[in-house]
Amino acid sequence: MLVSEIYSSRQGEGRLTGQPSIFIRTSGCNLRCHFCDTPFTSWAPEGRHISITDLLEQISKMAPKHVVLTGGEPMLPRAATKLTHHLNEQDYHITIETSGTVMRDVNCDLMSISPKLANSTPSRSRAGDWASRHENARHRPDVVNQLISRHDYQLKFVVSQPSDLEEIEQYLELLPGVHRHRVLLMPEGVEASQLAERETWLLPACDEHQFTYCPRMHIHWYGNKRGT
Ligand code: SF4
Repeated sequence: MLVSEIYSSRQGEGRLTGQPSIFIRTSGCNLRCHFCDTPFTSWAPEGRHISITDLLEQISKMAPKHVVLTGGEPMLPRAATKLTHHLNEQDYHITIETSGTVMRDVNCDLMSISPKLANSTPSRSRAGDWASRHENARHRPDVVNQLISRHDYQLKFVVSQPSDLEEIEQYLELLPGVHRHRVLLMPEGVEASQLAERETWLLPACDEHQFTYCPRMHIHWYGNKRGT
């Protein structure tokens, strides 16, 4: 499995916010979001190949019993099946953070799905062919429906502008089994000031649509730094 980093920190987003966790960040992604905050796993993937045996050994030396498999897109590597199977056998709580575009048989306690809206598509001048590859790959409600039918889940949308709310409502019409209280809206941004500006209109919008506001607490705690 190509891994860019493994570290112990606290979960900064979603319903397990504050939970001490081991983060395994796989490298490689089938999308190229223009706002990607881990370009070292997508636009310019880097990392080293680590065997499942070595990964499990490293994890066993760390204290938390929660593991977050994140990326990049952690559902891309076939080895995700074997890794999550072993972690489950060892009683770890497993969160998988995915864009919901790739189906794979995995053990998972919380499937944290972040479907990418139209606001994620990069410009052709920046991304070249990747602009259309991203646009063709990002919208997979069929995969999201399979994931939420198999796993406990949360749906986490990145919101850039107020008009995104309408697109989210349309998206949810394609996911008839989704419970509204599991829909989290997160402001786009990697600076506390950007997050604060978007919070001013996103908080009331969450109330109006009965969604849950999702702050990016790791940015407030640590800044936009790797390994946090
Ligand atoms: S899906 Fe995630 S890792 Fe991939 S490009 Fe988008 S934000 Fe980055």
